[in-house]
Amino acid sequence: MSRSTVWHPFTQHAVAPLPIAVAGSEGAYLTTNDGRRIYDGISSWWVVTHGHRQPDIVAAIKQQVDRLDQVIFAGFTHEPAEETAEKLLRLVSRSLGNRDLAHVFYSDSGSTAVEVALKMALGYWRNIGERRSRIIALEHAYHGDTIGTMSAGARGIFNAPYEPMLFDVARLPYPEAGREETTLATLETLLAEEPAAALIIEPLVLGAGGMLMYGAPFLRRLFEITKAHGALFIADEVMTGFGRTGTAFACEQACVTPDLLCVAKGITGGVVPLAATLATRAIFDAHYSTDRTKTFFHSSSYTANPIACAAASANLDLWLAAPVLPPLDGLCAMQQERLEALAADRRFTNPRRTGTITAVDLDVGDRGYLAGAGPKLYQRFLAADVLLRPLGNTIYVMPPYCSTAHDLDRVYASILNAADAVA
Ligand SMILES: *Cc1c(COP(=O)(O)O)cnc(C)c1O
Repeated sequence: MSRSTVWHPFTQHAVAPLPIAVAGSEGAYLTTNDGRRIYDGISSWWVVTHGHRQPDIVAAIKQQVDRLDQVIFAGFTHEPAEETAEKLLRLVSRSLGNRDLAHVFYSDSGSTAVEVALKMALGYWRNIGERRSRIIALEHAYHGDTIGTMSAGARGIFNAPYEPMLFDVARLPYPEAGREETTLATLETLLAEEPAAALIIEPLVLGAGGMLMYGAPFLRRLFEITKAHGALFIADEVMTGFGRTGTAFACEQACVTPDLLCVAKGITGGVVPLAATLATRAIFDAHYSTDRTKTFFHSSSYTANPIACAAASANLDLWLAAPVLPPLDGLCAMQQERLEALAADRRFTNPRRTGTITAVDLDVGDRGYLAGAGPKLYQRFLAADVLLRPLGNTIYVMPPYCSTAHDLDRVYASILNAADAVA
């Protein structure tokens, strides 16, 4: 491994320990080449929902591989893509109670799903002949790592070198508890001073920005104000989708029906990469024309890969079989109990939970993503065979849905132990 030529993501190779070689996975656990079993407390970077290698999804992939592997998706289509789109729209209409979202555009990562949404928003206004190009986003937002999505996301150490290539967006202050009105007033002002193309938002939880959580009523107000000014509402549910916040989609809790909905991570249960951008009829219709210049000019080579779509289709069957995925309520309750135990400990501040996700801030001197506490905590957790990857001094638990009370007990014990060692 020391001579590996692989360049790893978000990894400073000069200081990072050698990567851990993983040979297998099952349920909530990873098994390493040297035989350790590590509890996957971050669902392998937020993608795994049910658990690793969910049997129905694995079976669907195996069957699909024997039929059709890959085909160009311009001028061609296939059953897995058609089925997945139809099921996705059915789940969305059940969750959000709206039938305006009527078209599904496939891509292959959360970043591209958001990039597509931004392009569709601008294309919409141009095609209907209105001059609107301003994008409004929230402070601390994260929407991906491409140039467009970095532009919409928070500026900082992650994108400082690329700053000259990033476009300007209008920024809303993060709604600190009790200061939501300031954010809403800023939105009103921005929308009044210049007609905006769209507001883009991570509903209920800002993930990479530090697991920051705000309430459904605030989300609802953002939506109402945006719609009152005729701007498009883009919901980036790349992380929050597929049950993370306790409901199929986070927007459900605020009765928000976005114009564009981005999904990725959990769409295949976290088994293979796939993403989708759902658009309203109006946005599709704005691109529907005998004038070819109004075409939506976007594709990636693997758009709607049949194997990935087969996985998504099997995942959607699980979702459509029950009003709420069975383990979710139990998992939320188990997470709440354990969070309360941490909340009673004065070393932790700002205990919070939305659905299946809990987070606390460890009271240490230095904060922020590069804070020294993060890597130290990470190593402590790993030594206890628990994978947690703090964001600076923020420790969060984002478990696979199959996690048991025993699994979570181990995780929270490891958090207390790590705090003893680091705080
Ligand atoms: C992870 C994430 C993305 C980017 O998804 P990738 O698949 O990593 O490109 C975008 N938005 C949000 C909210 C995310 O959490």
